[in-house]
Amino acid sequence: MNISKYGDKLRLTMKPIILPEQKERFEEYYTRKAFRIERNMAGIIIAMQACMILIFSFRKGGPFISPRRIGYFSLYSMLLIATSFFLTGYINLVKSGRFHSVIILRRVYTCILFIWCIGITMLEQFGGNTIGVYCYLIPTIAALLLMEPLESILFFSINWGVVVVLLVVSGVNQENLFGNIINGTFVTFLSVFISIRYNRSVEAEFRDREIISMQYKKIQKANDKLHEMAFTDQLTGLHNRRYLMEKILDHFEEYQNKDCYLEMIMVDIDYFKQYNDTYGHLEGDVCLKKIADILEEYEQIEGTAAIRYGGEEFLLVRISKQPGEESRMEEALMKHIDSANIPREDTPWKKVTVSIGIWKGNTRELEKGENAIRYADKALYCAKSSGRNCIYRYNQEEFCRE
Ligand code: GH3
Ligand code: MG
Ligand code: MG
Repeated sequence: MNISKYGDKLRLTMKPIILPEQKERFEEYYTRKAFRIERNMAGIIIAMQACMILIFSFRKGGPFISPRRIGYFSLYSMLLIATSFFLTGYINLVKSGRFHSVIILRRVYTCILFIWCIGITMLEQFGGNTIGVYCYLIPTIAALLLMEPLESILFFSINWGVVVVLLVVSGVNQENLFGNIINGTFVTFLSVFISIRYNRSVEAEFRDREIISMQYKKIQKANDKLHEMAFTDQLTGLHNRRYLMEKILDHFEEYQNKDCYLEMIMVDIDYFKQYNDTYGHLEGDVCLKKIADILEEYEQIEGTAAIRYGGEEFLLVRISKQPGEESRMEEALMKHIDSANIPREDTPWKKVTVSIGIWKGNTRELEKGENAIRYADKALYCAKSSGRNCIYRYNQEEFCRE
């Protein structure tokens, strides 16, 4: 017989399914899961003991007629009191969220049940009975009260050991002794098996739930990231054109209904092709990023979104609920970019400059949102034609004349 092989199997059975850091969550999970059934079981035990006490009280001779009856009566009363205390404490601890204390309370109550079981089994022996009560009580405890594998081996064997010693030492019911010991041993083994299976299945269920919830969180995170990426420009980190379309223009009717005020500010870097040709595309990217960082600061102004519209074209879009309230952020932006002093030698200003075209007005003035972009673009064209590095505001009459 290869003993180490059995040792390995036993270790495998004992190997904890739950990691130490999951223990606290497991205690909460199990207590919440078992709360109703444990509460109801405790209620049933109380009712049963109360019934037995009543039956014994009204039986001929009363509960104190013989030492055996006194024994039964005391045991029923003891279990009634213990279970009532357990139930009250249990409900209070669950309500106050002290799940570890629930585990300790359950352990104490399990010990009381074991002691009660020893008492009742011995009383049955004095009546010349078999160990029938032991045979149904012990598997019931195993199936209903969660214990750690080692804990259950220890509890069930000590309990059975005490019963065997008492059966042998007390000398009662010797004619049934052999059969009782065989049956009891079998039931004890069976109960340990049930208890370990129960513990394993509950722990495995918890572990699987944790894995599923972790994976769900990962998927959720990946989804959020994808969503963010879909609306973000990779180079500058600003919102992209899809954001403009789906998050602003697609909801334009809502803004019109709410009578919102719209500021559409289109910003285009001057002579940027030339910048790339002079300093290279990588430097061009750095320059785009610097301008984007400046624009991003304007998102602090309520209702403002900074968007990379095209290659070196950006938009600041502000939608405000109060009609007519202008931010004047284009002027601040112009000064901001000017004072950033991003150097370049190939233009008269010796620094990177932008031209700005704007359209401002009530959303109701527009047939559709895209028109605001169209008008800002026209204004930008004027800014470019007028020598660049300046701001132009769309003026309907002027453009109608064109
Ligand atoms: P204007 O003053 O009239 O706006 O002239 P411009 O040269 O800035 O405008 P144009 O439209 O002729 O050129 C835009 C340039 O922007 C062309 C392209 O090489 C550059 N560009 C577009 N996207 C990027 C990018 O992601 N990185 C870099 N480095 N350059 C880009
Ligand atoms: Mg340009
Ligand atoms: Mg351009």
